[in-house]
Amino acid sequence: MQYELPNGYLSASALNCLLTCPRQYEFRYIYRLPTPPTVSMLTGTALHRTFEEYYRTAMTSAQRYSVSQAKELAVTAFEDVTTSEECYLTAEERSSAVSIVQDLTATYIEAIAKDIVPLAMEEQCVSTARCGVPLLAYIDLRRQYPDGTEGIADYKITARKWTPDKLVNSLQFNLYSMMTGIGDIEIHNLVKASPAKRTVTAKQTDDTIDIAPNLRLLRHYFDGSQAEHLETLIESAARLITSGIFMPCSLDAWCCNATWCGYWNICRGKAQAKTFDLAA
Ligand code: SF4
Repeated sequence: MQYELPNGYLSASALNCLLTCPRQYEFRYIYRLPTPPTVSMLTGTALHRTFEEYYRTAMTSAQRYSVSQAKELAVTAFEDVTTSEECYLTAEERSSAVSIVQDLTATYIEAIAKDIVPLAMEEQCVSTARCGVPLLAYIDLRRQYPDGTEGIADYKITARKWTPDKLVNSLQFNLYSMMTGIGDIEIHNLVKASPAKRTVTAKQTDDTIDIAPNLRLLRHYFDGSQAEHLETLIESAARLITSGIFMPCSLDAWCCNATWCGYWNICRGKAQAKTFDLAA
């Protein structure tokens, strides 16, 4: 079958968007309508850039940035991101975000990054599903373990901690494992909650460790047992996109509100504004 896909490929974020709300996928990937970045997105982008620079320096020189140097990098990255994205932040939002990126960077470098042997950062990975659909991914970090084996690491900057189930059933990481052939995947989960809310609730296992109140490390070995289901999902998604039919999500979907959907004003919010007389 000849598929018609935006940019000619599928990615984990495109598949997740389609599964969350097909209409949202249409706005974002077919019509390419941008939405203003949220403070959370800007914070996440700044931290990704900081860690990428940290590991790149570790790979290309014998030295690593110190914690205080890394914090400076994080502030510069945040300033770059907020300038280039042409976004408006209040002084309070900016000050809070700068404090968060510094805090999370310090914890991350001290508790995890300084001991990691990096092999590649933001590595482009392309492959093709069995049905012929091209796939594209960018891997945050490929690392080497002390026993010489390789693994993938991904940074997640969230308000709530990831759970082991979330990792095991993650579309993104099942897909990464299928595409790269690497089963060992870990999440470096940085948590933005205020110190008072950073409760340590996880059951400590070999694969889930709360290294600090704002840093959880999760690790799972993907054995390929979900590959068949993923193939079915990818083929179905490609057929749906090619058909051009993008229905809205359910009325009670978590994402279908003005807070979580950047297209609210041109979609459900706009339709809701048209009032009609039920008695007529
Ligand atoms: S408003 Fe609801 S239906 Fe419309 S794009 Fe957003 S999430 Fe989907």
